Amino acid sequence: MMRRWWMSLFLVFIVAASGCAQGNTQKSGQQAGQTKTQAKSQNNKQAKSQMKTQSTNQAKTPQLAGGPERSVRSPGPMTLADLRSKYRGMFLLNGPSTKREVALTFDDAPDANFTPKVLDALKKAGVKATFFVVGNRVAAHPDIVNRMVREGHVLGNHSYTHANLPKLKDASFRDEILKTDRIIRSHTGYLPSYVRPPYGNISEHQIQWLRSEHKTIVNWNVDSLDWKGLSGEQVSTNILAHVKPGSIILQHAAGGTGEDLTGTVDALPKVISKLRKDGVKFVTVPELLGTPK
Ligand SMILES: [Zn+2]
Repeated sequence: MMRRWWMSLFLVFIVAASGCAQGNTQKSGQQAGQTKTQAKSQNNKQAKSQMKTQSTNQAKTPQLAGGPERSVRSPGPMTLADLRSKYRGMFLLNGPSTKREVALTFDDAPDANFTPKVLDALKKAGVKATFFVVGNRVAAHPDIVNRMVREGHVLGNHSYTHANLPKLKDASFRDEILKTDRIIRSHTGYLPSYVRPPYGNISEHQIQWLRSEHKTIVNWNVDSLDWKGLSGEQVSTNILAHVKPGSIILQHAAGGTGEDLTGTVDALPKVISKLRKDGVKFVTVPELLGTPK
């Protein structure tokens, strides 16, 4: 059964990858046939409507203090694999591979634009996920966080301002975590057990403090790379090509200025239906790990 799952995933990847390449070739052929004027006026229209959407929907969403995902994510002095093996049990990239379960996780939420669309897609599919929320965004959009809780999703701590944590002094680092804990508790009634550091970056010293606070650090082993503004086709291919039993899948449910997560929203129905056909169950992080939320 398991072997059959892998085989079919592999086939999906091949088909999706070749389909994607074909699509691109066709698209560039069509574009070449357009006159320059047509292309220019279309681009202007798109840019104008994008700007309008952004200014309407994202005016209230605070920017990520450490900078956009795309410009800050870089390997730290110790790789994720090094840290995981040193702090086994409290620094996780995935759950147990013994069950056909995976966890969808969404970072950087909430915003007023993409988060409700992600929530709509999850609701339609009947999937519960885990949201690693940014404290100051929770403060800006408490209604959306209440909706997450009402619809059965789990919240984790993704810092207060989305700072690049290893660059912070101890007091500021602790404040980022504790302030976010407090605001999550005020909306959910519980203290989150899980922390995901922004950009996946954390120092060993900070891991040790989180351990003393009984936190579990939950990163991921499947990166959809949706923060690059990929299409739905690309996002779903990235997930389906790498997913395996116990995977923790990283996606984003809110963006700052210039970040487009349409691909995340578009990919969800496809990823969910494909994996369900293969007998995969979608669970929250605490369900995957068999720990309290
Ligand atoms: Zn983030």
